[in-house]
Amino acid sequence: MGLQTYIKMRKFSADYLFTGREMAAEGTVLITKDDGTVEAILPAADAGEGVEALPGLLTPGFVNCHCHLELSHMKGLLPEKTGMVDFLISVIRGRGTATAQGEEMSQILTAIAGAEESMLHNGIVAVGDICNTSLTLKQKVEGRLNYHNFIETMGFIEQTAPDRLEAAVKIFGEFAGAYSLPIAAISLVPHAPYSVSPRLFGLIANFPGNQLITIHNQESQAENLFCQTGQGDFLRLYQALGLDISFFSGSGQRSMAGYLPHFYHNQTLLLVHNVDTREEDLAWKGGPDLCFCLCPNANLYISGQLPDVDLLMRHGCRIVLGTDSLASNHQLDILEEMKTLQHHFPLVPTEILLRWATSNGAEVLQMDGILGAFDMGKQPGVVLVSGMEEGKFTKRSKAHRLI
Ligand SMILES: [Zn+2]
Repeated sequence: MGLQTYIKMRKFSADYLFTGREMAAEGTVLITKDDGTVEAILPAADAGEGVEALPGLLTPGFVNCHCHLELSHMKGLLPEKTGMVDFLISVIRGRGTATAQGEEMSQILTAIAGAEESMLHNGIVAVGDICNTSLTLKQKVEGRLNYHNFIETMGFIEQTAPDRLEAAVKIFGEFAGAYSLPIAAISLVPHAPYSVSPRLFGLIANFPGNQLITIHNQESQAENLFCQTGQGDFLRLYQALGLDISFFSGSGQRSMAGYLPHFYHNQTLLLVHNVDTREEDLAWKGGPDLCFCLCPNANLYISGQLPDVDLLMRHGCRIVLGTDSLASNHQLDILEEMKTLQHHFPLVPTEILLRWATSNGAEVLQMDGILGAFDMGKQPGVVLVSGMEEGKFTKRSKAHRLI
């Protein structure tokens, strides 16, 4: 009798079994060790006794590629559909700082812990998290979720670029010093095309080891207008910040074409939101590897507009999903993002939405060695989605982590 005999196996079947890439044939059984490490996917006839037959859909755990855990205390604070500029002004005024004291600090930390707990509860196993501070670090070192930490920097005035970089590198160092988790990863990233100067873009692109980069991309029409002409609603943002940007009269280019040339072909750029991304933006060739992150519930919260998902699919774009923060979303729940996409783009198959939510996300965050698919030896989390009807999610669908 080998040691193998004493390792308890679990066997699952359900109405639908999504492998991370596609729906398995009906009756297929997932076999894992007690800790969720995948042993095999087998036809029912070969799976033997003791199969737990469950109602609903089995899927690997979800990957949330865009979040701001540090803004969790802003849940429900900001009114909906005010548009991008008013949203940004409200966030800048309401966000916490690393120097928050006493009651305020304890509120921020409690909200961070609660938000992380809710992601675990909602079947999320990994997060690409934007950090302007190290406020989330205390929670992250608990090691309950896998994080890629995107240390974000901004600064539209050229002269401030070295100082802005230095401040971000300091936060980068705090994360690097505290983290010892096996797949923890950190990179330095630009906030958005309208808030980062060309000089700062250059410093970020050349930061050593900065391979995976993310940016808020084309979140509104106003962003493209501002980058092209230096005009439009974004002027109100700089007024509110008290910044004189009279030197800027637009680059003549839409925002994406303006910043992509700063990056290198061996870098991956995770573009978030893409609400005003058009055919002409996708014609850009060469340079970094691009991936498109959709956060539809945040888009509906902020502006009521959604990206042209059909366009991205037609162009064969790599797509992943994110929740954005609790400042612009009612929950941190990838299933809710898939439901919204299914509602607005009913022709996108459930299998494709699930692929965006699992294996695509794991690959982009470079965690696909462990997460994203029911492949032998991986430990992607086993999640059951209830309330399925004819292969589609319903309003009452909920995710529940089994392992
Ligand atoms: Zn964001």
